[in-house]
Amino acid sequence: MDQSAKNAIQIENLSVNYRHTRALQNVCLNVPEGEFLGIIGPNGGGKSTLLKAILGLVPPASGKIEIFGEERKKNQAVIGYVPQFSTVDRTFPISAQEVVLTAFLKGPLHPFFRYKEEHRRAASAALERVGIENLASRQISELSGGEFQRLLIVRALATEPKILLLDEPTASVDPASREHIYELLTEINKSVTIVMVTHDLMAIASEVTSIACLNQTLVYHGGPQLDEKTVNAMYGCPVDLIAHGVPHRVLGRHDHDCRGGREDEEC
Ligand code: ADP
Ligand code: MG
Repeated sequence: MDQSAKNAIQIENLSVNYRHTRALQNVCLNVPEGEFLGIIGPNGGGKSTLLKAILGLVPPASGKIEIFGEERKKNQAVIGYVPQFSTVDRTFPISAQEVVLTAFLKGPLHPFFRYKEEHRRAASAALERVGIENLASRQISELSGGEFQRLLIVRALATEPKILLLDEPTASVDPASREHIYELLTEINKSVTIVMVTHDLMAIASEVTSIACLNQTLVYHGGPQLDEKTVNAMYGCPVDLIAHGVPHRVLGRHDHDCRGGREDEEC
């Protein structure tokens, strides 16, 4: 990566607490503009919390987050967000196009509210960009898991963000849709910096430009090659090597503390 490239996201010594739980501790992470970063880690490792902290949905206990060199403001339009599938109510009676339109909502709704014509046009353009304009009038309860996930990506892109954050976008979709979503993200990555939380290590190896492994602290941040050196550096994060055709093995205990960030990262 070009060292002179601008950082889309710069996180310094970030700690986040929920009442009695420390979710993140002293996380330092730079995401250069144009990067496709995959975040992996065990359940409860703080992955969703990191995305929420970048979005300003949870406050840091300490540390700081900068977006394109500026202090992050709440609801910054420059960031699009695809929340974890399980947190979305798919029985809600709303059409696909209306879901995309909600991206333009600011503040509470009032009676007789109407979306602006320009927002309707932008929503249609976003649906077309992802090739699901034919689904515009469908109720979301009538979409397959893969279609719904693509719809959430469309919604996140509707405001033309420069950064896209995705929380496990392939967790509830079939393998064909998963491939489709990765192709879509690779295309989007030509103009948008992407940070994606995933359990899908196939994606990590073949699609992303770097990976970070979170287990309360940043255990690893570097290249996506899942060779022995990388896997050893990621000790503390689940790495399923069977999926890659590499002989399965059980990692032994490590004597040294291999926490830490990227070697070239200052913090
Ligand atoms: P991950 O996405 O990696 O599974 P999370 O960021 O969701 O992890 O959670 C990190 C830790 O913070 C976990 O211990 C979790 O139980 C806790 N946590 C997450 N959200 C909340 C919340 N709203 N209130 C209290 N604790 C929370
Ligand atoms: Mg999560």
